[in-house]
Amino acid sequence: MPELPDVEAFKRYLDATALHQPIDTVRVGAPRLLHDTTPQGLGRKLHGQALESTRRHGKYLFARVDDAGWLVLHFGMSGRLQYAKASGQLPQDAELLLQFENQAGLAYIAPRKLGRIDWSDAPDDYIAAHGLGPDALAIDRASFRDLARGRRGGVKSWLMDQSSLAGIGNLYADEILFQAGIHPGQAVAKLDDDTLQTLHKTLRRVLCQAIEAGADPDAMPRNFLLPHRRAGDRCPRCGDTVATTKVGGRTAYYCPRCQSG
Ligand SMILES: [Zn+2]
Repeated sequence: MPELPDVEAFKRYLDATALHQPIDTVRVGAPRLLHDTTPQGLGRKLHGQALESTRRHGKYLFARVDDAGWLVLHFGMSGRLQYAKASGQLPQDAELLLQFENQAGLAYIAPRKLGRIDWSDAPDDYIAAHGLGPDALAIDRASFRDLARGRRGGVKSWLMDQSSLAGIGNLYADEILFQAGIHPGQAVAKLDDDTLQTLHKTLRRVLCQAIEAGADPDAMPRNFLLPHRRAGDRCPRCGDTVATTKVGGRTAYYCPRCQSG
């Protein structure tokens, strides 16, 4: 599932390819992914306009459409973006296909049709209306500590709770906790100030390193757990067998030796 580093990679990809090109045609291959607008309504908003800049919040990508508003994309379970200089080279049944006047195109592809395509006049209002917490990379140490206070339940569930902190999902919650040496089931209430400080620092480092690697599992630092999410695989730090447990209905990978705290 695309998480903060993946969506940041999509943002950079869009910035590098698809800005400032007037849109000719809009094709919506999955109308049910639209919530705040219709295929026709979206077509009217986008026709003749260009994507001018982007902004990411958590797992959401906002693309500003001239002065008209913002196209909002959420990538669901396995969504991605694909740009081509000739839009004919893109999948014509993409969930959303923007064909530019210069013949190029940008496809939003969400194979399991679990993403989200929205329209928003103001990202901050959208973020508030959808109950999203602060972006995981934007939050400072003190605010992070405040968020943890009074929080019940396990630390992994907390990190993945988009209404508390936006951007972290199953994979990166596991990675952050592995790098911080904290067991995924550890109660948030049990984490003291020093541990929370370490967790915040580790969270920033892991997300930044993953972004640097373009969110590609094969390009991650050698000490990352992420490429070892397989039964029987070894911890990259101590060599012990990686274990799994269920947290909030999702499978958590962790190292019993390195994450005993
Ligand atoms: Zn280990």
